[in-house]
Amino acid sequence: MFACGIGYDVHRFLAGRLLVLGGVTIHHPFGLEGHSDADVLCHAIADALLGAAGEADIGHFFPNTDESLRGMSSIVIVRTVRERLVAMGSVILNVDATLVAEAPKIAPYLSAMKTNLAGALAVPRDRVGIKATTNEGLGFLGRGEGIAALAVAAVERK
Ligand code: MG
Repeated sequence: MFACGIGYDVHRFLAGRLLVLGGVTIHHPFGLEGHSDADVLCHAIADALLGAAGEADIGHFFPNTDESLRGMSSIVIVRTVRERLVAMGSVILNVDATLVAEAPKIAPYLSAMKTNLAGALAVPRDRVGIKATTNEGLGFLGRGEGIAALAVAAVERK
């Protein structure tokens, strides 16, 4: 059957951390707070894939109480989720995601993010969509307090 899933995540900015989005380290005064590398884009995509597969969410598989996961690369999370879906007999058709942030400018990094995610998902680059927008100055995202990501995934599953 064909199935789709949705993912959403937010992380707040924190000084003294590297900013990593889609597995790409981005030049910015702030990183994101989180147990892993806080890659909000990877987390939203992982949740969309898990949702399409009818599985529990990312927090179930990668709990922030697990010290062995502290600082882990979230590209590894995406790869692990893909392996789980493949083991279930699922085929990932595509993922599409939007980052919402007032800063930094994401556009220069989109191509590298797409390469990383296509690699982690073992799909061609044209099966991965990544866009970025601002929140037009509105709300917590508009005040630059963090970054949000939304994602959808389409999966052919048994
Ligand atoms: Mg997260």
